[in-house]
Amino acid sequence: MQELPVCVICRSVLANPDAGIIILGKAICADCEQKIISLTGNEPDYAVYISGLRKIWCGREA
Ligand SMILES: [Zn+2]
Repeated sequence: MQELPVCVICRSVLANPDAGIIILGKAICADCEQKIISLTGNEPDYAVYISGLRKIWCGREA
């Protein structure tokens, strides 16, 4: 049985592969994906999402 992917940003479990995107083996749920797309640098949440993405790009947990 394969482990379900967990969103690196909000830690929610992706119920199926279509519920989000996988980048470099790390998952982002559809909710967070939409937030990232709509975020600008002025949003307070922006840093949270960027730090989550940085975990993906750096390939390790912060
Ligand atoms: Zn998420």
